[in-house]
Amino acid sequence: MNLSDMYLSLGLSPAVYRYGEGILEDLRARFDTVDAVAEYNQAKVLAAMQQNRVSAACFAATTGYGYDDMGRDTLEKVYADVFHTEAALVRPQITCGTHALAVALSANLLPGDELLSPVGAPYDTLEEVIGIRPSQCSLREYGVGYRQVDLLPDGTFDYDGIRAAINDHTKLVTIQRSKGYATRPTFSVRQIGELIAFIKSVKPGLNVMVDNCYGEFVETMEPSDVGADMTVGSLIKNPGGGLAPIGGYIVGRAECVSRCAYRLSAPGLGQEVGANLGLLPALYQGLFLAPTVVAGALKGAIFAANIYERLGFRVVPDGREPRHDIIQAVELGSAEAMSAFCHGIQAAAPVDSYVMPEPWAMPGYDAEVIMAAGAFVQGSSIELSADGPIRPPYAVYFQGGLTWYHAKLGILLSLQKLVEKGLATLP
Ligand SMILES: *Cc1c(COP(=O)(O)O)cnc(C)c1O
Repeated sequence: MNLSDMYLSLGLSPAVYRYGEGILEDLRARFDTVDAVAEYNQAKVLAAMQQNRVSAACFAATTGYGYDDMGRDTLEKVYADVFHTEAALVRPQITCGTHALAVALSANLLPGDELLSPVGAPYDTLEEVIGIRPSQCSLREYGVGYRQVDLLPDGTFDYDGIRAAINDHTKLVTIQRSKGYATRPTFSVRQIGELIAFIKSVKPGLNVMVDNCYGEFVETMEPSDVGADMTVGSLIKNPGGGLAPIGGYIVGRAECVSRCAYRLSAPGLGQEVGANLGLLPALYQGLFLAPTVVAGALKGAIFAANIYERLGFRVVPDGREPRHDIIQAVELGSAEAMSAFCHGIQAAAPVDSYVMPEPWAMPGYDAEVIMAAGAFVQGSSIELSADGPIRPPYAVYFQGGLTWYHAKLGILLSLQKLVEKGLATLP
């Protein structure tokens, strides 16, 4: 059987396959750039593991309190070196990205302090953490204020607005790198560095936290290289490499990170407690694989942008612009098209390929959300997945793919479903 017959047996028509191959021919140079970044980041991760003398002894399971957990402490040193920071908190006890962000915020804001987002509204789940939408145990309930400065219409920073919003109470600034569920651009690490420099020139001593979800290893630099006091993310996204079954990380200045540890466990205990429960091999190996896994996901995102752009759909980022995260938004214009797209992604999965995704109310989100994922780790979005809130502009956010080939099949099958429903027409 040749390759196009193999794809036929996976549900792909010859016409869609041929269309995809035509698009790919133009993307070779882009893919070479992606590989070059992965090679650099692989070297960075390897160097950090070697310098910290990672050994088989680091993989031993601990239970109970987890005092003197050498593998856990070494992993945190490796993360600190990869991100070039003084300290790192990397724990399976951090349950997800939102949890990591909530810990970083609540540990570094006290009653009467104000949090500033200079990049518009934060990710949906943070609205409840901050108290933008009333919620139990929000920062707002504890007397922490919040201010937001929206981006200018062209997607750039409103420097005058930001200067005006910084006041005596402003204590922490939160910058979200990735677009999340918005159709604004994702910021490059360089842009984030410029924003941080500006903020610190207005009020030296302010702490800046960057929500780095989906951004890790997309560039050769991270927000921690350009002045972020805390850089925060989820291990079931990029840095877990698809192997971490749970976890989050906070890297940054020692003073900020140790407060996070006290918030996560308890005052007085901090980083000393927290058994690893046998998860360390996956956390180490996932970090080791992360640069190449992210490269595969990036190729998938670039491919998806070009596939859909040439069919007349609005895609963010567009087919040519540089990438700063692994998310690809495709505006499909209707709930029906969102469903068809998600059915294709689901049909390509190694796990649960026979399942039909349906829109559903999700904790933390204010609209129904449709999600397609057939993942080895439940909810992992470094694995191939697509999701989006069912609301205008009916954009699906496509991300991940542990291998480029799987991402490729998923994207082509999403198009297959749209074509079959008459919701997209091949040129
Ligand atoms: C995924 C994500 C989060 C939240 O992470 P969860 O693991 O889903 O809680 C926060 N911010 C951004 C930008 C994200 O992409």
